[in-house]
Amino acid sequence: MIDFHCHLDLYRNPGEVLRESVRRSCYVLAVTTTPLAWNGTLQLVGGSPRIQVALGLHPELVAERYREVAEFRRLLPEAKYVGEIGLDGSARFKGSFDLQKRVLRELLLATAEAGGRIMSIHSRAASSEVLDALAEHPGSGTPVLHWFMGNGREVRRATELGCWFSVGPAMLRTKRGIQVLGQLPPNRVLTETDGPFTESKGQALNPWDTSIAVSGIASAWEISPQDANRRIRSNLRTLLGERSRTSGHPATSE
Ligand code: MN
Repeated sequence: MIDFHCHLDLYRNPGEVLRESVRRSCYVLAVTTTPLAWNGTLQLVGGSPRIQVALGLHPELVAERYREVAEFRRLLPEAKYVGEIGLDGSARFKGSFDLQKRVLRELLLATAEAGGRIMSIHSRAASSEVLDALAEHPGSGTPVLHWFMGNGREVRRATELGCWFSVGPAMLRTKRGIQVLGQLPPNRVLTETDGPFTESKGQALNPWDTSIAVSGIASAWEISPQDANRRIRSNLRTLLGERSRTSGHPATSE
């Protein structure tokens, strides 16, 4: 299972979720919402090679935490991944939207100056504005748009900009989410949960619950869940620059 957007540090029982993820051989990108969570999350994860930590500054926190851009810059050299960053244009955060846009540009600029990273990106009610910012910073790396709900034109623009997409059970619970999935290029799709902020039957989704998303993706692609799983794993290897099955080399062991 691959959970490319999970708030591992924010579960009620992060140690347990981590241990179970390792036991089940899940690949997890543990995104953070503030640079101040970076060190603690690294310590939590320890040496688990399949659990990676991303350095973030969440748009919902930018109004109070914009000063932490300096801390983001300072930690960036040691971070292999960036996230969660982005924009949130929903009613609750609209008040900080201009500040969010300035901060996102600073983060993307810093990331470009650091040589670019794989970045997990939030774009709720701000698809076009996020794509504008990414277009201005082509050196910032490879964006993975998490829970992207843009229209067809925005999906095409995102794809042309080199974006990837992570899709989770909560997104696929809506008609509109399934519709978006149908427009995504299959070779740029990964799975995620956005746990613990997403739930199923009153329980926070855990990284291995991406199996629910794999089933949804399999029906959209009209293939078996096993085949969908295989394609998503191969996508991850491509994203991470590892050898893929199709290159004629032996596949990395899973
Ligand atoms: Mn998130």
